[in-house]
Amino acid sequence: MANDSKDTRPIKDQRVCIIGAGPSGTAQLRAFEAAEKNGAEIPELVCFEKQANWGGLWNYTWRTGLDEYGEPVHCSMYRYLWSNGPKECLEFADYSFEQHFGRAIPSYPPREVLHDYIMGRAENSGAKKFVRLQTAVRWVQYSPETKKFTVTVKNLPEDRIYSEEFDYVVVANGHFSTPNMPEFEGLSMFPGRVLHAHDFRDALEFKGKDVLLVGSSYSAEDIGTQCHKYGANSITFSYRTKLMGFDWPEGFEEKPLLKKTVGNVAHFSDGSTKKVDAIVLCTGYLHHFPFLPDDLRLKTHNRLYPPDIYKGVVWINNPKLMYLGMQDQYYTFNMFDAQAWYARDVILDRIKLPDRAAMKADSEAWVKREEACKTEEEKIDFQTEYVRDLLQATDYPPLDVDHVGELFKEWEHHKEEGILTYRNRCYPSTLTGTMSPQHHTLWMDALDDSLGAFLKAPEAAE
Ligand code: FAD
Ligand code: NAP
Ligand code: MG
Repeated sequence: MANDSKDTRPIKDQRVCIIGAGPSGTAQLRAFEAAEKNGAEIPELVCFEKQANWGGLWNYTWRTGLDEYGEPVHCSMYRYLWSNGPKECLEFADYSFEQHFGRAIPSYPPREVLHDYIMGRAENSGAKKFVRLQTAVRWVQYSPETKKFTVTVKNLPEDRIYSEEFDYVVVANGHFSTPNMPEFEGLSMFPGRVLHAHDFRDALEFKGKDVLLVGSSYSAEDIGTQCHKYGANSITFSYRTKLMGFDWPEGFEEKPLLKKTVGNVAHFSDGSTKKVDAIVLCTGYLHHFPFLPDDLRLKTHNRLYPPDIYKGVVWINNPKLMYLGMQDQYYTFNMFDAQAWYARDVILDRIKLPDRAAMKADSEAWVKREEACKTEEEKIDFQTEYVRDLLQATDYPPLDVDHVGELFKEWEHHKEEGILTYRNRCYPSTLTGTMSPQHHTLWMDALDDSLGAFLKAPEAAE
């Protein structure tokens, strides 16, 4: 049921539902807007966003658990979060940092600055009129008879549930919000705080404390270094598969997997123990689509090429359903753009999808290729090739992915050279060639992460 299910009605009579107004959902709106500016007719767009503002994970809230309407809080970001990769690797090809800020800025901005940049492109685009804020998608059902989706949503402030019909659905609800919460013996009797990274908000809570972080990926690394930066007494990481192996300064150690806690003592699988005050489970997230039935629902762990979606975008079992941003991410904003431009062109019938068997074979070949990647560099190259493959299919403005891939590799090396110093590095924009300036304060000394403090001229900063 690939192209045979194509709609023959004029495109302007068709309706597209976008679920989520984070970087991926707004990329989809922007993609359609770009086509319209170039004279194309576009479908009617409706983007449902459950939060009170767009911006996705970058939209910070102090809340954890449930929000004021009883909805799960989406935000997994925390105070003092800085970009963990160079901004030059995620720059939108149609909206440079220099264009947004009026000048070049350092390579590792804090959350508020990146939020401002994402929102800047979206605000300038007029896409907001398509977004229905504070509206949570509850259920999506496809009818083979009408060839339409019925999308049921809840307007949260009005406490009103309603349904509308759509020809296409683009799922862009992110996959770093529903915590993966393993059980460890003894945790229910642990005398201190036990929380998941999703609920971590302020490192100052752990000042003077001995903190245990379970997990060995980005959240463990960043929450651990951040607790250290804001005065934690010691940082212990516990890995399941592989230690991070950075050249940790004094006060850090890496242990194998946590077996159990007895009182406030953590016991590890090598028999060693450590007294700790708090435990942060940095154990990743679940792809969670509570609004999708089995036959439309992507089932995957966090990986570079989730199965069953052609080009990492099109749901093979029903190509009127698309997914954006469901990959594990080296590339972020510009990859979401590449996907959104691709999804747009499928909907506009500019890209002709092959039949189901061919889509399946293509997707399986990419999955195999991903599984063959062993090193960090091979994984970066894999995602570079994936983005390149998408870009050649659309008119997304030129993006030098070879250059971006090289910057990712430099970033990896810089992290190895110094996990507490890599954010002091500078890289050139792959769009404008401008070398980013050095930040006025070293990252370890930069305790104020506000946009105002970050953008202060070096001479004005204390
Ligand atoms: P999200 O940003 O998660 O947005 C999804 C949107 O969908 C949200 O607004 C949500 O409210 C909405 N939504 C969800 N469910 C529903 C529903 N049922 N109905 C309606 N709306 C719904 N990337 C980087 O490039 N640099 C970084 O430094 C970086 N730091 C990160 C730090 C953390 C702690 C995490 C968790 C991720 C980080 N990322 C970073 C990666 C991040 O995934 C991407 O930057 C980006 O936010 C993904 O965009 P998205 O639109 O796919 O998903
Ligand atoms: P992740 O990359 O998916 O890693 C999950 C980690 O949890 C892995 O180390 C995994 O170990 C471990 N794990 C899973 N189940 C476990 C179990 N039962 N027991 C022990 N360990 C278990 O998730 P993440 O680290 O939360 O990162 C998510 C995203 O957030 C990334 O895109 C990252 O870039 C982003 N992020 C960015 C920043 C920033 O500074 N800007 C900060 C934090 C996060 P195995 O290796 O054994 O599977
Ligand atoms: Mg092209």
